[in-house]
Amino acid sequence: MQIRVSEVFYSIQGEGTLSGTPSVFVRLPGCPLRCRWCDSAYAWEYDNGEKFKIDELSKKCSSYNCSHLVITGGEPFTNPDFLFVLERLRGVFEHITVETAGIEYISNLPIDLLSISPKLSNSLPQNTQRDIEPKHIVDAQLLRRLINSYNYQLKFVVKDQADMPEVVSLVKQLQSPASRVMLMPESRDTDEYMRAFKTVVELCIEYGYRFSPRLHIQLWGNRRGV
Ligand code: SF4
Repeated sequence: MQIRVSEVFYSIQGEGTLSGTPSVFVRLPGCPLRCRWCDSAYAWEYDNGEKFKIDELSKKCSSYNCSHLVITGGEPFTNPDFLFVLERLRGVFEHITVETAGIEYISNLPIDLLSISPKLSNSLPQNTQRDIEPKHIVDAQLLRRLINSYNYQLKFVVKDQADMPEVVSLVKQLQSPASRVMLMPESRDTDEYMRAFKTVVELCIEYGYRFSPRLHIQLWGNRRGV
């Protein structure tokens, strides 16, 4: 069986509680959300990337001699090979993070951290259409099932104060402790990141949420494979 993978690379985790942790990234293609500020738009189509035999993928991942794997996208939960890849790579890594927008529920995933980034209205696409019904983009009931099932973090991309009522309302509906909630600067390149940085730190102080860097954008801008 061959798996289509948008990219495989070794870098540091740029976001969330594991920021700075050396990690192997497997980016699975396909995402119906098409967020306006997406930094991996090249992975939106399901036929993006290269085909690997699963043993080749496993061997490539092992070659980095790294304990942490991040399965990202695109939106991995909508990728048809996600479960197969996860099962096959589980034995290779001590710690697996899956990054998702939280638009679907899947039970019993053998993972260590579910990194959920619900999409606020600031993510609405400008020049394209979403391939998902609006009611499924942020489904509080589904998100509650996810956070009750997995060790999780909630990461929100925000730009300024105007984004906060949505964040506060959703966190309240989810009954999530603030310590699990992180705000990240909306940005696709280093300049945008640096412009939003201080504002987002101040929002964290005001609302009691954690700040998440986006180290890959801060350091390398919109380069792929980092
Ligand atoms: S959910 Fe993630 S991968 Fe999909 S468009 Fe939004 S930011 Fe990009």
